[in-house]
Amino acid sequence: MIVLKVDPLNPELDVIKRAAKVIREGGLVAFPTETVYGLGANAFDPIAATKVFKAKRRPMDNPLIVHIADMEQLYDVAKDVPDEILDLCQRVWPGPLTLVLKKAEGVPLETTGGLNTVAVRMPAHPVALQLIRESGVPIGAPSANLAGRPSPTLAEHVIQDLGDSVDVILDGGETFFGVESTIINATVSPPVLLRPGPLTVEELRQLVGEIVIPKELLEGSEFKEALAPGMKYRHYAPNKRLYIARRTEEFVPTLEVLRKRMKVAALCSEETCREVHDPKIILGTRENLYSVARNLFKSFRLLDQLDVDVGLMEPFPERGVGLAIMNRARKASGNSVISLEEAERFAKDQA
Ligand code: AMP
Ligand code: MG
Repeated sequence: MIVLKVDPLNPELDVIKRAAKVIREGGLVAFPTETVYGLGANAFDPIAATKVFKAKRRPMDNPLIVHIADMEQLYDVAKDVPDEILDLCQRVWPGPLTLVLKKAEGVPLETTGGLNTVAVRMPAHPVALQLIRESGVPIGAPSANLAGRPSPTLAEHVIQDLGDSVDVILDGGETFFGVESTIINATVSPPVLLRPGPLTVEELRQLVGEIVIPKELLEGSEFKEALAPGMKYRHYAPNKRLYIARRTEEFVPTLEVLRKRMKVAALCSEETCREVHDPKIILGTRENLYSVARNLFKSFRLLDQLDVDVGLMEPFPERGVGLAIMNRARKASGNSVISLEEAERFAKDQA
Protein backbone atom coordinates (compact mmCIF):
# COMPACT_ATOMS: atom_id res chain seq x y z
CA MET A 1 0.00 0.00 0.00
CA ILE A 2 1.25 3.47 -0.90
CA VAL A 3 -0.21 6.65 0.57
CA LEU A 4 0.12 9.67 -1.72
CA LYS A 5 -0.69 13.15 -0.41
CA VAL A 6 -2.70 15.19 -2.85
CA ASP A 7 -3.95 18.77 -2.83
CA PRO A 8 -7.76 18.42 -2.64
CA LEU A 9 -8.47 21.58 -4.62
CA ASN A 10 -5.57 21.53 -7.09
CA PRO A 11 -4.58 17.88 -7.38
CA GLU A 12 -1.01 17.34 -8.61
CA LEU A 13 -1.28 15.78 -12.06
CA ASP A 14 1.69 13.41 -11.60
CA VAL A 15 0.10 11.96 -8.46
CA ILE A 16 -3.27 11.50 -10.16
CA LYS A 17 -1.62 9.88 -13.19
CA ARG A 18 0.18 7.39 -10.98
CA ALA A 19 -3.10 6.38 -9.30
CA ALA A 20 -4.95 6.30 -12.65
CA LYS A 21 -2.41 3.81 -13.97
CA VAL A 22 -3.21 1.51 -11.03
CA ILE A 23 -6.93 1.71 -11.90
CA ARG A 24 -6.24 0.92 -15.58
CA GLU A 25 -4.11 -2.06 -14.58
CA GLY A 26 -6.91 -3.54 -12.46
CA GLY A 27 -5.74 -2.34 -9.03
CA LEU A 28 -7.54 -0.61 -6.16
CA VAL A 29 -7.26 3.10 -5.35
CA ALA A 30 -8.88 4.77 -2.33
CA PHE A 31 -9.71 8.42 -3.01
CA PRO A 32 -11.58 11.30 -1.39
CA THR A 33 -14.96 12.45 -2.66
CA GLU A 34 -17.10 15.28 -1.30
CA THR A 35 -19.05 12.69 0.77
CA VAL A 36 -16.63 10.03 2.14
CA TYR A 37 -13.53 8.16 0.87
CA GLY A 38 -14.26 5.64 -1.87
CA LEU A 39 -12.50 2.38 -2.70
CA GLY A 40 -12.23 2.48 -6.48
CA ALA A 41 -11.68 0.00 -9.29
CA ASN A 42 -12.28 0.04 -13.06
CA ALA A 43 -16.07 -0.41 -13.22
CA PHE A 44 -15.75 -2.27 -16.56
CA ASP A 45 -13.31 -4.86 -15.18
CA PRO A 46 -15.10 -7.75 -13.39
CA ILE A 47 -11.90 -9.00 -11.73
CA ALA A 48 -11.02 -5.54 -10.38
CA ALA A 49 -14.60 -5.06 -9.14
CA THR A 50 -14.45 -8.41 -7.35
CA LYS A 51 -11.29 -7.24 -5.55
CA VAL A 52 -13.27 -4.34 -4.05
CA PHE A 53 -15.75 -6.76 -2.46
CA LYS A 54 -12.94 -8.95 -1.11
CA ALA A 55 -11.01 -6.02 0.37
CA LYS A 56 -14.11 -4.69 2.14
CA ARG A 57 -15.44 -8.16 3.03
CA ARG A 58 -18.65 -6.93 1.44
CA PRO A 59 -21.39 -9.37 0.35
CA MET A 60 -21.18 -9.80 -3.44
CA ASP A 61 -24.86 -8.84 -3.87
CA ASN A 62 -24.40 -5.30 -2.49
CA PRO A 63 -23.60 -3.30 -5.65
CA LEU A 64 -20.98 -0.57 -6.12
CA ILE A 65 -21.74 3.01 -7.12
CA VAL A 66 -20.23 3.81 -10.52
CA HIS A 67 -18.51 7.20 -10.57
CA ILE A 68 -18.31 9.20 -13.80
CA ALA A 69 -16.59 12.46 -14.73
CA ASP A 70 -18.79 13.82 -17.54
CA MET A 71 -22.25 13.44 -19.04
CA GLU A 72 -21.02 11.41 -22.02
CA GLN A 73 -19.80 8.71 -19.67
CA LEU A 74 -23.34 8.38 -18.38
CA TYR A 75 -24.27 6.56 -21.61
CA ASP A 76 -21.36 4.13 -21.25
CA VAL A 77 -22.85 2.87 -18.01
CA ALA A 78 -26.63 3.50 -18.19
CA LYS A 79 -29.39 3.39 -20.78
CA ASP A 80 -32.97 4.64 -21.28
CA VAL A 81 -32.43 7.61 -18.96
CA PRO A 82 -35.80 9.43 -18.70
CA ASP A 83 -35.72 13.09 -19.83
CA GLU A 84 -36.69 14.50 -16.46
CA ILE A 85 -33.90 12.48 -14.81
CA LEU A 86 -31.37 13.70 -17.38
CA ASP A 87 -32.47 17.21 -16.55
CA LEU A 88 -32.01 16.46 -12.83
CA CYS A 89 -28.45 15.15 -13.44
CA GLN A 90 -27.56 18.24 -15.39
CA ARG A 91 -28.69 20.42 -12.53
CA VAL A 92 -27.13 18.61 -9.56
CA TRP A 93 -23.97 16.94 -10.91
CA PRO A 94 -21.24 17.03 -9.94
CA GLY A 95 -22.76 16.51 -6.51
CA PRO A 96 -23.83 14.05 -3.78
CA LEU A 97 -26.73 12.43 -5.64
CA THR A 98 -26.63 8.81 -6.88
CA LEU A 99 -29.20 7.61 -9.39
CA VAL A 100 -30.21 4.01 -9.94
CA LEU A 101 -30.77 3.55 -13.69
CA LYS A 102 -30.99 0.74 -16.24
CA LYS A 103 -27.54 -0.76 -16.76
CA ALA A 104 -25.71 -0.46 -20.10
CA GLU A 105 -24.31 -3.71 -21.57
CA GLY A 106 -20.70 -2.78 -20.85
CA VAL A 107 -21.06 -2.81 -17.08
CA PRO A 108 -20.37 -6.30 -15.73
CA LEU A 109 -22.76 -7.92 -13.24
CA GLU A 110 -19.87 -8.15 -10.75
CA THR A 111 -20.02 -4.34 -10.44
CA THR A 112 -23.81 -4.21 -10.02
CA GLY A 113 -24.11 -7.13 -7.62
CA GLY A 114 -25.93 -9.18 -10.26
CA LEU A 115 -28.56 -6.48 -10.94
CA ASN A 116 -29.65 -5.12 -14.32
CA THR A 117 -29.64 -1.65 -12.81
CA VAL A 118 -26.62 0.49 -12.03
CA ALA A 119 -26.09 3.22 -9.44
CA VAL A 120 -24.31 6.24 -10.97
CA ARG A 121 -22.99 9.54 -9.72
CA MET A 122 -20.60 12.34 -10.66
CA PRO A 123 -18.67 13.33 -7.54
CA ALA A 124 -18.00 17.01 -6.77
CA HIS A 125 -14.37 16.56 -5.73
CA PRO A 126 -11.41 17.61 -7.90
CA VAL A 127 -9.37 14.53 -6.91
CA ALA A 128 -12.18 12.10 -7.76
CA LEU A 129 -13.03 13.83 -11.05
CA GLN A 130 -9.39 14.00 -12.20
CA LEU A 131 -8.79 10.39 -11.23
CA ILE A 132 -11.75 9.23 -13.33
CA ARG A 133 -10.66 11.41 -16.27
CA GLU A 134 -7.05 10.23 -16.19
CA SER A 135 -8.11 6.58 -15.80
CA GLY A 136 -10.30 6.89 -18.89
CA VAL A 137 -12.90 4.55 -17.36
CA PRO A 138 -15.78 4.92 -14.92
CA ILE A 139 -14.76 3.94 -11.38
CA GLY A 140 -16.87 1.57 -9.28
CA ALA A 141 -16.44 2.63 -5.68
CA PRO A 142 -18.27 1.94 -2.44
CA SER A 143 -17.09 3.60 0.77
CA ALA A 144 -13.51 2.60 1.63
CA ASN A 145 -14.27 0.95 5.00
CA LEU A 146 -14.62 -2.66 6.07
CA ALA A 147 -18.26 -3.75 5.61
CA GLY A 148 -20.30 -2.68 8.64
CA ARG A 149 -17.79 -0.11 9.93
CA PRO A 150 -18.26 3.68 9.89
CA SER A 151 -17.45 5.19 6.48
CA PRO A 152 -14.01 6.83 6.24
CA THR A 153 -13.79 10.61 6.21
CA LEU A 154 -9.99 10.70 6.57
CA ALA A 155 -7.24 8.71 4.81
CA GLU A 156 -6.16 7.27 8.17
CA HIS A 157 -9.57 5.56 8.51
CA VAL A 158 -8.90 3.79 5.20
CA ILE A 159 -5.47 2.70 6.41
CA GLN A 160 -7.01 1.38 9.67
CA ASP A 161 -9.68 -0.65 7.88
CA LEU A 162 -8.12 -1.79 4.63
CA GLY A 163 -4.33 -1.45 4.94
CA ASP A 164 -2.51 -3.56 2.41
CA SER A 165 -5.55 -4.72 0.49
CA VAL A 166 -5.49 -1.30 -1.25
CA ASP A 167 -2.75 -0.47 -3.78
CA VAL A 168 -2.83 3.33 -3.48
CA ILE A 169 -4.52 5.71 -1.05
CA LEU A 170 -4.87 9.29 -2.24
CA ASP A 171 -4.80 11.39 0.92
CA GLY A 172 -6.68 14.60 0.18
CA GLY A 173 -7.52 15.44 3.80
CA GLU A 174 -10.95 15.38 5.39
CA THR A 175 -14.00 14.87 3.17
CA PHE A 176 -16.58 17.62 3.05
CA PHE A 177 -20.08 16.30 3.82
CA GLY A 178 -19.02 13.26 5.87
CA VAL A 179 -22.11 11.16 5.04
CA GLU A 180 -22.63 9.13 1.87
CA SER A 181 -24.56 10.37 -1.16
CA THR A 182 -28.35 10.53 -1.40
CA ILE A 183 -29.56 7.58 -3.53
CA ILE A 184 -32.79 7.55 -5.54
CA ASN A 185 -34.26 4.83 -7.72
CA ALA A 186 -34.87 6.61 -11.04
CA THR A 187 -36.09 3.51 -12.91
CA VAL A 188 -39.57 4.16 -11.53
CA SER A 189 -41.76 7.25 -11.72
CA PRO A 190 -42.01 9.05 -9.37
CA PRO A 191 -38.49 8.24 -8.15
CA VAL A 192 -38.06 6.53 -4.77
CA LEU A 193 -35.59 7.57 -2.08
CA LEU A 194 -33.26 4.66 -1.24
CA ARG A 195 -30.83 6.41 1.10
CA PRO A 196 -31.03 9.93 2.57
CA GLY A 197 -27.87 12.01 2.18
CA PRO A 198 -26.44 15.51 1.81
CA LEU A 199 -28.81 16.45 -1.04
CA THR A 200 -31.94 16.67 1.07
CA VAL A 201 -35.47 15.43 0.42
CA GLU A 202 -36.64 19.05 0.57
CA GLU A 203 -34.15 19.99 -2.18
CA LEU A 204 -35.04 16.94 -4.27
CA ARG A 205 -38.73 17.82 -4.12
CA GLN A 206 -37.94 21.27 -5.48
CA LEU A 207 -35.89 19.69 -8.27
CA VAL A 208 -38.12 16.81 -9.40
CA GLY A 209 -41.48 17.48 -7.82
CA GLU A 210 -42.77 14.22 -6.44
CA ILE A 211 -40.46 11.73 -4.72
CA VAL A 212 -41.56 8.69 -2.76
CA ILE A 213 -40.11 8.25 0.72
CA PRO A 214 -40.52 4.62 1.86
CA LYS A 215 -42.02 4.46 5.33
CA GLU A 216 -38.89 2.90 6.86
CA LEU A 217 -37.04 6.11 6.01
CA LEU A 218 -39.64 8.51 7.33
CA GLU A 219 -38.96 10.50 10.44
CA GLY A 220 -38.81 8.42 13.58
CA SER A 221 -40.24 5.29 11.97
CA GLU A 222 -37.19 3.20 12.73
CA PHE A 223 -37.70 4.16 16.37
CA LYS A 224 -40.62 1.76 16.60
CA GLU A 225 -38.33 -1.19 17.17
CA ALA A 226 -36.57 0.78 19.88
CA LEU A 227 -34.37 -1.03 22.34
CA ALA A 228 -34.52 -4.31 20.44
CA PRO A 229 -30.75 -4.60 20.28
CA GLY A 230 -30.84 -5.53 16.58
CA MET A 231 -27.09 -6.13 16.46
CA LYS A 232 -27.60 -8.10 13.28
CA TYR A 233 -28.62 -4.94 11.49
CA ARG A 234 -25.80 -2.75 12.71
CA HIS A 235 -24.04 -0.84 9.99
CA TYR A 236 -21.72 2.18 10.01
CA ALA A 237 -21.03 0.93 13.50
CA PRO A 238 -18.44 1.50 16.19
CA ASN A 239 -17.34 -1.62 18.14
CA LYS A 240 -18.71 -0.12 21.36
CA ARG A 241 -22.47 -0.09 21.89
CA LEU A 242 -24.12 3.16 20.91
CA TYR A 243 -27.47 4.38 22.25
CA ILE A 244 -29.53 7.31 21.03
CA ALA A 245 -31.57 9.37 23.49
CA ARG A 246 -35.23 9.38 22.52
CA ARG A 247 -35.70 13.13 22.83
CA THR A 248 -33.33 16.09 22.84
CA GLU A 249 -34.64 17.26 26.24
CA GLU A 250 -34.09 13.78 27.68
CA PHE A 251 -30.46 13.54 26.61
CA VAL A 252 -28.79 15.12 29.68
CA PRO A 253 -30.97 13.38 32.32
CA THR A 254 -30.65 10.03 30.48
CA LEU A 255 -26.88 10.44 30.45
CA GLU A 256 -26.83 11.17 34.18
CA VAL A 257 -28.95 8.13 34.99
CA LEU A 258 -26.82 5.77 32.85
CA ARG A 259 -23.61 7.18 34.29
CA LYS A 260 -24.64 5.94 37.75
CA ARG A 261 -24.16 2.40 36.44
CA MET A 262 -21.52 2.53 33.72
CA LYS A 263 -18.95 4.64 31.92
CA VAL A 264 -20.79 6.55 29.22
CA ALA A 265 -19.34 8.84 26.56
CA ALA A 266 -21.67 11.69 25.53
CA LEU A 267 -21.89 12.31 21.78
CA CYS A 268 -23.66 15.63 21.46
CA SER A 269 -23.93 19.07 19.94
CA GLU A 270 -21.65 21.87 21.02
CA GLU A 271 -24.63 23.45 22.79
CA THR A 272 -25.49 20.33 24.80
CA CYS A 273 -21.83 19.48 25.47
CA ARG A 274 -21.59 22.66 27.58
CA GLU A 275 -23.93 21.02 30.08
CA VAL A 276 -22.17 17.65 30.39
CA HIS A 277 -18.95 16.32 31.87
CA ASP A 278 -16.22 14.30 30.17
CA PRO A 279 -15.93 11.92 28.48
CA LYS A 280 -17.70 13.72 25.66
CA ILE A 281 -17.40 14.05 21.88
CA ILE A 282 -18.62 17.25 20.24
CA LEU A 283 -20.52 16.41 17.06
CA GLY A 284 -21.02 19.95 15.76
CA THR A 285 -23.52 22.73 16.23
CA ARG A 286 -27.28 22.35 16.29
CA GLU A 287 -27.40 25.59 14.28
CA ASN A 288 -25.84 23.84 11.29
CA LEU A 289 -26.48 20.12 10.98
CA TYR A 290 -23.94 19.84 8.14
CA SER A 291 -21.28 20.25 10.85
CA VAL A 292 -22.75 17.24 12.68
CA ALA A 293 -22.84 15.17 9.47
CA ARG A 294 -19.22 15.98 8.82
CA ASN A 295 -18.04 14.76 12.23
CA LEU A 296 -20.41 11.82 12.67
CA PHE A 297 -18.37 8.83 11.46
CA LYS A 298 -15.12 10.20 12.89
CA SER A 299 -16.90 10.44 16.25
CA PHE A 300 -18.06 6.81 16.06
CA ARG A 301 -14.43 5.77 15.53
CA LEU A 302 -13.30 8.02 18.39
CA LEU A 303 -15.84 6.36 20.70
CA ASP A 304 -13.95 3.08 20.30
CA GLN A 305 -10.79 4.74 21.57
CA LEU A 306 -12.29 6.11 24.77
CA ASP A 307 -12.19 4.21 28.04
CA VAL A 308 -15.98 3.85 28.29
CA ASP A 309 -18.55 1.06 28.23
CA VAL A 310 -21.02 2.69 25.83
CA GLY A 311 -21.83 5.93 23.98
CA LEU A 312 -25.05 7.95 24.24
CA MET A 313 -25.89 10.23 21.32
CA GLU A 314 -28.17 13.26 21.25
CA PRO A 315 -30.92 12.96 18.60
CA PHE A 316 -31.26 15.61 15.89
CA PRO A 317 -34.35 16.86 14.02
CA GLU A 318 -34.98 14.77 10.91
CA ARG A 319 -35.16 17.71 8.57
CA GLY A 320 -32.66 18.53 5.85
CA VAL A 321 -29.41 16.63 6.36
CA GLY A 322 -30.74 15.62 9.81
CA LEU A 323 -32.60 12.76 8.09
CA ALA A 324 -29.28 11.31 6.85
CA ILE A 325 -27.62 11.81 10.25
CA MET A 326 -30.37 9.98 12.11
CA ASN A 327 -30.57 7.22 9.48
CA ARG A 328 -26.84 6.46 9.96
CA ALA A 329 -27.02 6.85 13.76
CA ARG A 330 -29.97 4.47 14.08
CA LYS A 331 -28.17 1.87 11.98
CA ALA A 332 -24.94 2.32 13.92
CA SER A 333 -26.83 1.81 17.17
CA GLY A 334 -28.79 -1.18 15.88
CA ASN A 335 -31.91 0.92 16.60
CA SER A 336 -31.03 1.24 20.27
CA VAL A 337 -33.09 4.30 21.10
CA ILE A 338 -33.48 4.80 24.84
CA SER A 339 -35.98 6.96 26.72
CA LEU A 340 -35.35 8.46 30.14
CA GLU A 341 -37.89 6.08 31.62
CA GLU A 342 -36.11 3.06 30.13
CA ALA A 343 -32.76 4.34 31.41
CA GLU A 344 -34.21 4.71 34.91
CA ARG A 345 -35.61 1.18 34.82
CA PHE A 346 -32.22 -0.12 33.63
CA ALA A 347 -30.40 1.71 36.44
CA LYS A 348 -32.80 0.27 39.01
CA ASP A 349 -32.37 -3.28 37.69
CA GLN A 350 -28.60 -2.93 37.97
CA ALA A 351 -28.74 -1.65 41.53
P1 AMP B 1 -21.60 2.55 -0.39
O1 AMP B 1 -20.99 3.44 -1.40
O2 AMP B 1 -20.64 1.72 0.39
O3 AMP B 1 -22.52 3.29 0.50
O4 AMP B 1 -22.49 1.52 -1.17
C1 AMP B 1 -23.25 1.81 -2.30
C2 AMP B 1 -24.72 1.87 -2.02
O5 AMP B 1 -25.40 1.97 -3.26
C3 AMP B 1 -25.25 0.63 -1.33
O6 AMP B 1 -26.14 1.02 -0.32
C4 AMP B 1 -25.98 -0.09 -2.45
O7 AMP B 1 -27.02 -0.90 -1.97
C5 AMP B 1 -26.47 1.05 -3.32
N1 AMP B 1 -26.65 0.62 -4.72
C6 AMP B 1 -25.68 0.47 -5.63
N2 AMP B 1 -26.17 0.02 -6.80
C7 AMP B 1 -27.50 -0.11 -6.62
C8 AMP B 1 -28.58 -0.54 -7.47
N3 AMP B 1 -28.37 -0.94 -8.72
N4 AMP B 1 -29.82 -0.56 -6.94
C9 AMP B 1 -30.03 -0.15 -5.66
N5 AMP B 1 -29.05 0.26 -4.82
C10 AMP B 1 -27.81 0.28 -5.29
MG1 MG C 1 -20.67 2.00 2.58
